[in-house]
Formats: sequence, structure tokens, C-alpha cells
Amino acid sequence: MVMETNKAVFFDRDGVLNHLIERDSSFYSPQKFEDFKLIIGANKVVEEVKRLGYLTIVVSNQPDITRKKLKQSDLDQMTELLFNELRIDDAFYCTHDDHNDEGCRKPKPGLFHLAQSKYNINFSNSIMVGDTWKDVEAARSAGVRMLLLDRIYNQDVIDVERIEELQDILTFL
Ligand SMILES: [Mg+2]
Ligand SMILES: [Zn+2]
Repeated sequence: MVMETNKAVFFDRDGVLNHLIERDSSFYSPQKFEDFKLIIGANKVVEEVKRLGYLTIVVSNQPDITRKKLKQSDLDQMTELLFNELRIDDAFYCTHDDHNDEGCRKPKPGLFHLAQSKYNINFSNSIMVGDTWKDVEAARSAGVRMLLLDRIYNQDVIDVERIEELQDILTFL
């Protein structure tokens, strides 16, 4: 039996670590590296989370790869920024769409299990922070405590703990 000894904070990416693109009152994930803008202060939050002994792991759907609206090279540049500016420990992506997914596309919990296998993560003392119902369902399926950023576009999500801003996760650790 493998000991699950590590704890982690799982971060959704878009709308959590970087800004969404707003167009006609709808919100989209950035499709170009030049549109990828980190949230001010996210680096300090990640730094503090790590100082408290948590792994910092991004779990993110990027279906625009399958949809050919996002180039792998742009996604790679975004990921590089997450590593270089935020100092996250790792990033796990699902680049599938609904039709070709292999169990990793949130609301499925596959990305959590990939991370768990690599780092021996104990879900019961880990936390997920996200901004959509898919994050909520994925975390729930994995058995990870969920904190939902309270946003105008997720007001229909019920029965979930909400926080105002990213830094609020620190009060839960
Ligand atoms: Mg998101
Ligand atoms: Zn997938």
C-alpha cells in the first residue's frame, strides 16, 4: 500500500490564477498567450500555500486545443508563466472536448487522480479552488474540499463553500 502523505491545493486556472476574457457579457478562456494575464497577487498566495507545506497543482480543462482555437505553443507559454511567475509545482490539463475525453475533463475527477498518482496526495487534507460548477463536481467526485470563488457567472451553483478572492483560501489552510 502506498502512503498518501502529501497535501495539496489544487487550482483551477482560468478565472482563478488568470483573468477571463469578457466579451458581450460572457467570459472566455484566453486563446492567445498575449491575452493571458495573471491575477495580481496570485504569486503571493501560491508562495504562502507552499510555505504552509502544500503542493500547488493546477488542474485545468483546455478544450480549445481539441477545438483548434488554442495552439499548443500558446498553452505551453501560458504554462511556463505559471511555473516561472507563480512557482506552481505542477499543471495537469485535459485538452479534450466532451466527445473525445478520457475521463480527465472536469466535472470528471481524472486530473485529480493523475496528480495523486504522481505525488501521493491525501485528498482528505487537500483543497480545490475554482470558479465553475465543473470544478465543484470534479472536486466532489475526488473527495477534495471545494472552495468556489464567488462570481457573477456561478451564482446558480448551490451547496458549496464560497470565497470572495483567491487569497481567502489561506484562512482554510
Ligand atoms: Mg475556471
Ligand atoms: Zn480529457
